[in-house]
Amino acid sequence: MRFRDDSMARFVRHSERGLGKAATLAEAQGVVFRCPCGGGHVLLVWFADKGVPIHAEPAPRWQVQGTGLNDLSLTPSICASCWHGWVSGGRTVELQPPEGHLDVGDARRLGDDHLRDA
Ligand SMILES: [Zn+2]
Repeated sequence: MRFRDDSMARFVRHSERGLGKAATLAEAQGVVFRCPCGGGHVLLVWFADKGVPIHAEPAPRWQVQGTGLNDLSLTPSICASCWHGWVSGGRTVELQPPEGHLDVGDARRLGDDHLRDA
């Protein structure tokens, strides 16, 4: 699944009232993206070294590379109960054995209203 537009993925910032939007990777503290499992929800992951409060869940922080959604890559892989894979080069990649033993972080599942404009 490619992050071709903001109906698939959006950058976010942490807010005590919920998630705030971020227009660019430079402003972003995390990303939400449509879960590749097709279950109609999004996954939230927070970036490392971007000032995300320590209490913000999910607890893992992902190393981010790239310039925007089109070439975003995250490390380590991302685990949700419904899907396990990578974000690499601006798209999601299903995790294949034997990579399954690699370090993973647990993402948070949220409603897909985070990809809709209010
Ligand atoms: Zn899912």
